[in-house]
Amino acid sequence: MHLSEILNHLGEDRENYFNAVSPPIIQTSNFAFKTLGEFRNAFVDELESHLYSRGNNPTVKILRQKIAALEEAEDALVFSSGSGAIANAVIANVKSGDHIVCVQASYSWTFNLISSFLDRFGVEHTFVDGKNLSEIEAAIKDNTTVLFLESPTSATLELQDLEACAAIAKKHNLISIIDATYASPLYQKPFAMGIDLSVHTCSKYLNGHSDVIGGVISGSKIMIKKIFESEYMTLGGIISPYEAAMIIRGLRTLELRMERTSASALKIAKWLEDHPKIEQVYHPHLPSFPQYELAKKQMKKCGGLFSLKIKADSIEKMEAFHARLKCFLLAVSWGGHESLLLPYCAFHGIPGRPDTTIPWNFVRIYIGLEDPNWLIEDLAQALEVV
Ligand SMILES: *Cc1c(COP(=O)(O)O)cnc(C)c1O
Repeated sequence: MHLSEILNHLGEDRENYFNAVSPPIIQTSNFAFKTLGEFRNAFVDELESHLYSRGNNPTVKILRQKIAALEEAEDALVFSSGSGAIANAVIANVKSGDHIVCVQASYSWTFNLISSFLDRFGVEHTFVDGKNLSEIEAAIKDNTTVLFLESPTSATLELQDLEACAAIAKKHNLISIIDATYASPLYQKPFAMGIDLSVHTCSKYLNGHSDVIGGVISGSKIMIKKIFESEYMTLGGIISPYEAAMIIRGLRTLELRMERTSASALKIAKWLEDHPKIEQVYHPHLPSFPQYELAKKQMKKCGGLFSLKIKADSIEKMEAFHARLKCFLLAVSWGGHESLLLPYCAFHGIPGRPDTTIPWNFVRIYIGLEDPNWLIEDLAQALEVV
């Protein structure tokens, strides 16, 4: 299906709501029935019937259909956060005594889910360097059921070879799950490479305006139905109809936003790479990137997120640099309209927490939708203090 069809029309039965261009927010918890027969039938398939909004809500369903189509997947389930979607996808595929292989540099709350939360329920794990296929394969045990990938990872931008990982998972009968947030559904196609389940947060590019938290799992009809009937209905991590409508609105401009942020970020990454105060730039589509060939092969574009190391000789210099920036906000997250910096010196010296192993001159940068030349000017004047 054409991308424009998905973003503008798919799932929108306008004749059912006065031909309104924008879909209604069906703000209801509950649905009533005319007859006992209809009522009885609704229980047959709660994912498709209109029974109760913890299961299916018409506004959420529009979003579900659009994201499944963007992912080139048979079906999808939308959640109230990306972390909720990740937890549901993993929990659905393990039981006590099973073992998970997961990439070491995964998102912090994924790491927490696997290393400490699921550990309480007797699920074992091994973290691996996702760049190393033989390390991944060597970590697989008789009781391994899940291979959890995140490519690229969102701070250090480490890729896994997705075709090779999917083949390893198939060979050992594992469910492969990817957190594919970085490249958005537009620029990386996990299912075409053989992955079983793909997860995205909607809080980043899919909504795109830094005003909603949400998440999604996509996969085959069978796998999605299994998650729906157990984890989705039991844990109740659903998104509200209002927030689903916000994400539908965000999706209208997904293609435009992704093109803009990708082009601006690559331009700024190139500019930074030539700057004398920059030690290194980590952008998967720069030829200097260690996994450049793989990045070109499995990602069409990279979006707006990349990292760099600044040639600063003290944390104070890093602080001075950040203090001088006028156009970038200091913040976690990314994928909105606004440019952000996540300085890793912020993770050094947090009371009661060990320092991160990532050096303090490391900075994650997100390029938003502003004029890239305006952002370059800001970076240039701030780098003067380093
Ligand atoms: C933000 C993020 C998540 C978590 O999503 P939430 O919607 O904040 O729960 C998971 N994975 C990656 C890569 C992220 O960047």
